[in-house]
Order: sequence, then structure tokens, then C-alpha cells
Amino acid sequence: MFGPLIVKPSKSKGDKTGSWRIQLRPKYLQKNCIACKMCVLICPEGCVQGKEKNNYISDYNYCKGCGLCAQVCPKADIVMIEEDSRG
Ligand code: SF4
Ligand code: SF4
Repeated sequence: MFGPLIVKPSKSKGDKTGSWRIQLRPKYLQKNCIACKMCVLICPEGCVQGKEKNNYISDYNYCKGCGLCAQVCPKADIVMIEEDSRG
């Protein structure tokens, strides 16, 4: 029969889940951010960092492009853009 598909348990900080992105990535505009931290709380990869207004950012090494941060941002300060676009 087939062998196990998962050889060992893993976690995102050990494996760079940014390679999972296939089309879109979040762009943090850093213009209208109110530092509510919703993006930090919702991110399943724990890869959003920031401390003050307009300095939140996603670590693309781990961001899998799910778009949740852009959905919850109350100030629409995160947009999903094409992976290969500049900006
Ligand atoms: S797109 Fe998803 S994985 Fe990437 S920073 Fe936003 S919530 Fe996290
Ligand atoms: S959800 Fe939007 S407003 Fe809130 S901290 Fe993140 S970027 Fe800033």
C-alpha cells in the first residue's frame, strides 16, 4: 500500500509556508492603520508584525496568502495584490 503522507508533525515557523502562495499576497499600505492588531490576531501563520500605527507588515517567508488580514482590517489598509506585481 501507500506509505504515510505526513512523515512528521510540523509548524509554520519551521517550514517557510510562504512557498504555499500561488497568486496573491497582502500589501500593507501603512496609511490609515490604527494599530488595532486585528491582522495580527487573525493571521493563521502568526507572521504579521507591528507595534505602532502604520508599521504593520507581513513576513512573506511565512505568509500563505489566505487574505484573512485584508478581510478583517477595519481601515481597508491591507490589499491583496498579484504575487508578481511590484509594490
Ligand atoms: S494573507 Fe493570511 S497568512 Fe498572509 S499575512 Fe494575511 S492573514 Fe497572514
Ligand atoms: S488590521 Fe489594519 S488597522 Fe488594524 S493593525 Fe492591521 S493594518 Fe492596522
